[in-house]
Amino acid sequence: MSSEDRDHDPLARLAALLGRLPGIGEKSALRLALALVRAEPEYVAKLVEAIAGVQTRLRLCEICCDLSSSEICSRCKDVRRDHKLICVVAQPQDRMALERTGIYRGLYHVLHGVLDPRANVGPADIQVGALLKRLSPAHGSEPVQEIIVATSPNLEGDSTALYLARLIAPLGVRVTRIASGVAVGGELEYADVTTLHRALEERRVL
Ligand SMILES: [Zn+2]
Repeated sequence: MSSEDRDHDPLARLAALLGRLPGIGEKSALRLALALVRAEPEYVAKLVEAIAGVQTRLRLCEICCDLSSSEICSRCKDVRRDHKLICVVAQPQDRMALERTGIYRGLYHVLHGVLDPRANVGPADIQVGALLKRLSPAHGSEPVQEIIVATSPNLEGDSTALYLARLIAPLGVRVTRIASGVAVGGELEYADVTTLHRALEERRVL
């Protein structure tokens, strides 16, 4: 089907758009599009609203850079959390995976990427500056005592952790790394609760 035909065929157009999402192949995209054709109109209306709102109603938390519906996210506002501890993750889904374990009660910082020279991703392209800002004594809040770097145990994750350690350790803040070799398969977001628990418990100083 040419792109012009697709523009005139609502089903093909929807399937083509859905197929651009990660992990959705051509067949899945068509299956989803067909399910929407048959779905209750109220459900479709809610879905449309949710999709539209995901960009307009979400922003980055001014402190931790995680996705948030308000200026400061609920985790940064939570006084029951340990504000002396910051766990640094690459993506919001990594924070969500750690939060699911229920064992970590400190704060987070979301980098939105890792250092990757081959893809031209440098420190200025991820949220390193915002992290440093949280460590400056002038910030006013409780001084941070430990940064736990929880990037995935692969080349980019490891070099990001080392970079942060070199940058932050001279400021007198302890920098630790979640235990590598514990996370089977490598990607933090797919690790199970027991694995993440061990990775956190067995963290080492960088
Ligand atoms: Zn926050």
